[in-house]
Amino acid sequence: MEKISLSEIYGLNVFNDAVMQERLPKKVYQELKSIIKSGTTLSASVAEVVANAMKDWAIDKGATHYTHWFQPMTGVTAEKHEAFLTPDGMGGAIAEFSGKELINGESDASSFPSGGLRSTFEARGYTAWDCTSPAFLKEDASGLTLCIPTVFCSYTGEALDKKTPLLRANDALNHQALRILRLFGDTQTQRVEASVGAEQEYFLIDKEMYKKRKDIIFTGRTLFGAMPPKGQELDDHYYGTLRERVSLFMHELNRELWKLGIPAKTQHNEVAPCQHELAPIFTNANTATDNNQLIMETMKRVAPHFGLVCLLNEKPFAGVNGSGKHDNWSMTTDTGKNLLDPGKNPHENKLFLLLLVAVLKAVDVHADLLRVSAACPGNDHRLGAQEAPPAIISIFLGDQLEDILQQIDGGCLSNSIQGEEMSIGASTLPSLKKDVTDRNRTSPFAFTGNKFEFRMVGSSDSIACPNYIINTIVADSLCDFADRLEKAKDFDSEVMTIIQETIREHKRIVFNGNGYSEEWVKEAERRGLPNITCMLEAIPAIRSEKAIALFEKHGVLTREECEARAEILYEEYAKQIIIEAKSMVDIVMKQISPAALTCSDKVAQTVLRLKEAGVSCDSALHRLQKLTEEQNALDSATAELSAALEKVQSMDQIEEAASYCRHTLFPLMAKVRKPADALEFLVDKKDWPFPTYGDLLYYID
Ligand code: ADP
Ligand code: MG
Repeated sequence: MEKISLSEIYGLNVFNDAVMQERLPKKVYQELKSIIKSGTTLSASVAEVVANAMKDWAIDKGATHYTHWFQPMTGVTAEKHEAFLTPDGMGGAIAEFSGKELINGESDASSFPSGGLRSTFEARGYTAWDCTSPAFLKEDASGLTLCIPTVFCSYTGEALDKKTPLLRANDALNHQALRILRLFGDTQTQRVEASVGAEQEYFLIDKEMYKKRKDIIFTGRTLFGAMPPKGQELDDHYYGTLRERVSLFMHELNRELWKLGIPAKTQHNEVAPCQHELAPIFTNANTATDNNQLIMETMKRVAPHFGLVCLLNEKPFAGVNGSGKHDNWSMTTDTGKNLLDPGKNPHENKLFLLLLVAVLKAVDVHADLLRVSAACPGNDHRLGAQEAPPAIISIFLGDQLEDILQQIDGGCLSNSIQGEEMSIGASTLPSLKKDVTDRNRTSPFAFTGNKFEFRMVGSSDSIACPNYIINTIVADSLCDFADRLEKAKDFDSEVMTIIQETIREHKRIVFNGNGYSEEWVKEAERRGLPNITCMLEAIPAIRSEKAIALFEKHGVLTREECEARAEILYEEYAKQIIIEAKSMVDIVMKQISPAALTCSDKVAQTVLRLKEAGVSCDSALHRLQKLTEEQNALDSATAELSAALEKVQSMDQIEEAASYCRHTLFPLMAKVRKPADALEFLVDKKDWPFPTYGDLLYYID
């Protein structure tokens, strides 16, 4: 195996600060840096010089093409490659790339979802360079392409992507957090950024088996499959030794990510068989979002090099843990301070306490928005299924902070519980310091030492939406606090009053217990916390009057942009369920039913022969009866599902179709699956048309 030196390859394919310093004239470099820092607009002359330097660097590295790289509302990234090529007028060509081409792009965007923001006769979409995320070279078997991160908008400037609202929300958070910092006497900080580290879970399965599973090919998850004798009950996969093929995959994955300047740091086996996790070191929300998209793309690209396929669906296997990502979120100043670091004595740290209760208030008031930010069809099979966080949003704070909040609520704040020394009991082992925020894996929004961890996000989803929502709702709390504090006569006492009032008003959102328990569902209901169990019910929050007022106030989304997002979510939901239902019908008709009939035929012949021989055919007959019963149940359920599919496809109201998918197609799909999975037990393994859960989850390397 090729040895890799981290320092040699790290950032090799990124037009990063070091490259800019080396390749740009000093003045241009400084101007660009200050534009990136202050968020002002790039002049045409600077763009021209940067474009040239970028092109030369890319061509020196072997690139022939460039693309504006953007994130339309499909959740995946989009690119349209252009060659660095201009005819020279003498039958040849020269490599050219202008400032204009760097800054702006225009493309026919009619095939991207716009939720009605752009009618097809105005099919143009515009891409604009986002110079706060570095350009990079994407490498695949066909060569290298210069990718320029861009935002994507309509002719009238409406956001057609996931990135624009994130950039706007970053600005909103910065603006409000700076107001608070100034009130606390901080004159140094120039910018506050959300810092984000997204842990990514995924499955790896054998490629040859994958090719035989049409359900996974079409929908990303299995639609059929009986539980194998062994699932994840022994917990023997979590943190288990990596298998060699997987370890080789991770080695190449890391190398590819490091080249892109993505700080992939931790990797381990997850709870389910074949499930793994990768965590990068955190960075600013914008770069972290781009990086997460690239991590997902690279996983998919690298897996086949080892005969594997990477599954990012939230629930590839029923009955086995699904995948999500933990969106770790904090606020960091440009002077390098983590604002959510409580310090040793959080009870004395008023700024920290104020920011903490700002998050409490934000999450309580806008739990419905956080829920919709994690809504995707696959996540419906995961949230609330006793493995991922429950569908009810609550915050875990840990003993120390909960105690401080209780002291404040009681009107007397005097101390912070300190982590105790913990003896392990063997004299040769060092004593460990207990963490004051213990882990609570069941909480959807947990404070973990110096950051919050939003654990609801689906593994296939972009983290742009969760982060623009967290940024906006926290900005809104900070705005309310700053409004009050700017008017306060006695600043210190007003800070304490706000903290106390906020705790009293929003403490119902704090829950440190077991989020998987039935009691919590009841307790949450008593507290008036929403329990939104499916995507369909989550969608309306994004276009509620409350949400529109919030987004408009902070300049993150307009009313039309909110409406468009709701529309797209309904569409995404309906389309996915319809594809799944169609795949089921297809697989039953072409694979499962024929296999079951072949098996019945064989057993029927056995019955006849046994009768001829004059011996008992009870056992064979019993098997034949079971097979026929299940086959009949399968036939009638499939017929019902087919009829329902015809009906839904004639509906032109997207909301109506989405609701029909949830309330009619969904239960029918379960009705089809049941006899199909029962048949898997009855049909000879040799005749079963595709690999089973046992094969997929326990493939031998
Ligand atoms: P785990 O949740 O498995 O215990 P860690 O606590 O090591 O993992 O961190 C998980 C993720 O949180 C990593 O991506 C890490 O970079 C990120 N993280 C750590 N500190 C911060 C921070 N201040 N802001 C945002 N993300 C952070
Ligand atoms: Mg985590």
